[in-house]
Amino acid sequence: MTALSPLVLATGNTGKVDELRALLVGLDLTLLPANELDRSLTVVEDADTLAGNAQKKARAYHEHTGRAALADDTGLEVAALDGGPGVHTARFAGADATPEDNKQKLLRVMDGVSDRRARFRTVVALIDADGATHTFEGRCEGTIAAAPHGDGGFGYDPIFRPDGYDQTFAEMPAEAKNEISHRRKALDALRAFLSSLESDTDR
Ligand code: IMP
Repeated sequence: MTALSPLVLATGNTGKVDELRALLVGLDLTLLPANELDRSLTVVEDADTLAGNAQKKARAYHEHTGRAALADDTGLEVAALDGGPGVHTARFAGADATPEDNKQKLLRVMDGVSDRRARFRTVVALIDADGATHTFEGRCEGTIAAAPHGDGGFGYDPIFRPDGYDQTFAEMPAEAKNEISHRRKALDALRAFLSSLESDTDR
């Protein structure tokens, strides 16, 4: 695989960029968030899987810049909604929905529902400078709160309580979310892949 640095972060979501920066610390990579490029792209997320959307975003930025690119696509899978909104999580309350609209819709739909189990699932796609694709997945199990709590994080964080914690992601310090999150687990898989490449070249 060719060198990964500089690595384009194929997302305009500043919450994601902050987390990706924290989670990629220690790797010898210069990160180039999409909003720091001279021209950003609009990528329509119309694939029917998280992996398909992550690859689509990473590939669009790889083709635009000629550099390695990394994209994350995340879905919230709610047991009582048969795994929905899943790949439609960003547009749950409609095509132009804000994070607040999405959160409020989920709270409404879940009003009175006793089975509140849910999980975040992230697929990270890495396209290297030669155009080869690698994908990594991470999950975090939890429950949907009855009302929003906390003002940290982003997206659905105020209504997602990871298993084993009394706080929602939005009530936790960023470092605590980053210890256990879906995104953390996907990037741990990416780190393991990168170290396996290093040990192959050491042999
Ligand atoms: P996408 O991966 O950018 O398509 O995001 C899917 C949806 O999930 C968007 O509404 C995001 O705000 C939300 N989202 C993605 N990651 C997280 C997270 O770590 N916590 C809470 N919401 C998230």
